[in-house]
Amino acid sequence: MAETVSTENLVMEDIGVNTDGYVVETEELWRVYKMGSREVPALRGVNLHISAGRFVALKGRSGSGKTTLLNCIGGLDHPTSGVVRVFGRDLTELSERQLTQWRRKKVGFVFQSFGLLPTLSAYENVELMLRIAGVPGKERHDRTLYCLDLVGLSKWVHHRPYEMSGGQQQRVAIARALANNPSLILADEATGELDSVTAREILSLFRRIVDEEHVTLLMATHDPLVDEYVDQILQLRDGQIVQEQ
Ligand code: ADP
Ligand code: MG
Repeated sequence: MAETVSTENLVMEDIGVNTDGYVVETEELWRVYKMGSREVPALRGVNLHISAGRFVALKGRSGSGKTTLLNCIGGLDHPTSGVVRVFGRDLTELSERQLTQWRRKKVGFVFQSFGLLPTLSAYENVELMLRIAGVPGKERHDRTLYCLDLVGLSKWVHHRPYEMSGGQQQRVAIARALANNPSLILADEATGELDSVTAREILSLFRRIVDEEHVTLLMATHDPLVDEYVDQILQLRDGQIVQEQ
């Protein structure tokens, strides 16, 4: 009985099915912040198409709109106008509750400052995401260890963030982002606080994850190092894509 199927169920079932093969699409995407009587247009008509299984860099200087664009794609922010389609679904059609569910299941986030819970071990930081998602015990345990192994931290599972280097903490954050087996990872300046050797290690890890785990990864950055690792570079300037490579 098609008419009684809730949109919520549809959201979960049809994710990942996209006839034209794009994981992320935006059409004339605008995001205008209101600052009192002033309007700040952070995104000014962004059109982009990202294919499945690609590692894409979103480059541009500070203030060009990278974070705003990632937030609109990840459903953390609402566009002022235009369309954001992820896995073929227009995010503006979803309620807040649906958006939260969708995000939890389908998108992993990695931030510049790692964002780990300081009193929890690496294991607990990753496992918490699976607890929130309601994954049962044994599966949760296995998946946590799998993700920590994937990022090269098998020997560090019981360490807390303050006992780890910045690079190791970012690896925990990446394992956490992977925990729910997302199809899309959004990374905002994920190498911004790391030295160049460590940044390269993280970029190699991202490359490997895209190749082996069948995810699409969109990384906002102004780090020139990324060029060697990515499949595609989108250049953002003053809220518009000015160049695609
Ligand atoms: P980037 O990540 O490339 O540094 P942002 O997306 O953070 O760029 O910012 C783009 C523009 O939007 C900037 O001019 C910034 O000042 C403005 N901006 C970002 N967030 C807000 C906000 N919450 N309120 C008002 N203006 C904002
Ligand atoms: Mg930013």
